Amino acid sequence: MNIKEADQSYIANTYARFPVVITRGEGSRVWDEEGRCYLDLSGGIAVNTFGHSDAAWVQAVTEQLRQVQHTSNLYYTAPAARLAEALCSRTGMKKVFFSNSGAEANECAIKAARRYAAEKRGQEYYTVVTLKNSFHGRTLTTLAATGQDTFHQEFTPLTEGFVYADANNTESVRRLIEEHKCAAVLLEVVQGEGGVNALDADFVREVEALCREHDLLFMCDEVQVGNGRSGMLYGYMNYGVQPDVVTTAKGLGGGLPIGATLLGERVAGIFTPGSHGSTFGGNPVCCAGALNVLERLDEACLAGVRERSAYIFQALTGAEGVESVSGMGLMIGVKTVRPAGNVISDCMARGLLVIKAKDKVRLLPALNIPMEELKEAIGILLAVCAEKKEETV
Ligand SMILES: *Cc1c(COP(=O)(O)O)cnc(C)c1O
Repeated sequence: MNIKEADQSYIANTYARFPVVITRGEGSRVWDEEGRCYLDLSGGIAVNTFGHSDAAWVQAVTEQLRQVQHTSNLYYTAPAARLAEALCSRTGMKKVFFSNSGAEANECAIKAARRYAAEKRGQEYYTVVTLKNSFHGRTLTTLAATGQDTFHQEFTPLTEGFVYADANNTESVRRLIEEHKCAAVLLEVVQGEGGVNALDADFVREVEALCREHDLLFMCDEVQVGNGRSGMLYGYMNYGVQPDVVTTAKGLGGGLPIGATLLGERVAGIFTPGSHGSTFGGNPVCCAGALNVLERLDEACLAGVRERSAYIFQALTGAEGVESVSGMGLMIGVKTVRPAGNVISDCMARGLLVIKAKDKVRLLPALNIPMEELKEAIGILLAVCAEKKEETV
């Protein structure tokens, strides 16, 4: 059996994979098993913050691997402590819980919200308001938090206690808060899987104010938009708000699995020994990689993200075959005239990897992609968008 056949025979059939076996990566390029080279604007779905096999990141990770690879949370280790310290000092948050994925980071946030509301107002105040078209993960609870029916079908009963407001509609949030016994509002400032849509600034600020007014936790899911991708360290920083809870994962580890739930003043003391945990959470190797990522997300790097973003928006907006461009920083959605799926496969045939978000082409390049390579990649995308073809979807 070749690799594709073995994968199809033995791996659970949950992913529709592109027909390519990737064997190697370097910076913003990857190679397949036949030696074909691709420019990679998929970024491992916003994970590979500094591209593939980045030298400084590899060094940080391998150095830690040679020291100690895992200890369990029964002992102190430096990388987790230093990473938590750095996350708190860069965000003003007070405590961090480490896990291994975005879904787990959100699970922790939801547990924190339930405990907070139970202590302050009573056990029946557990409902979390999320937004329609959101995405918060694949566990039964984070699926319930996800405001898209298609993800729910066939997996009921889901965890109860979630209601869904219309994005960019403050009245809709207010109504739900008044109708239900709520604990928190959870939102993505840029909805990723939902189609790369940045929320309106007024709406986000009004939701924060509603949370203050009703003593609810204001929680931001920064799993995709966080860690420099928006052009600021965290996406909420573009909005002038201060969440009580921030969840992140994907790009934090730069390619290793890590999730983090950042707890602000109101919930700093919410967890007590035994109330939450994770075997691999805070793993020293993952934390060493994340610390390297975080240290390099400085002002110069973030300015570079904004500059690359401005280039992409300017190059694509109004171009032939492009209906609209959405998103923020290096998390960009392109509504194409041609069906997105066809644009993506034609890009691939020309050596460019891009992915989908709903009916859009999604771009999630490495934050440090060289301008030359970015221009080459956008050139390919523009050519494919402008093609006139008999389309089969
Ligand atoms: C990807 C994603 C998640 C889920 O993260 P996993 O690591 O796959 O569990 C949650 N929220 C958002 C906004 C995401 O983009």
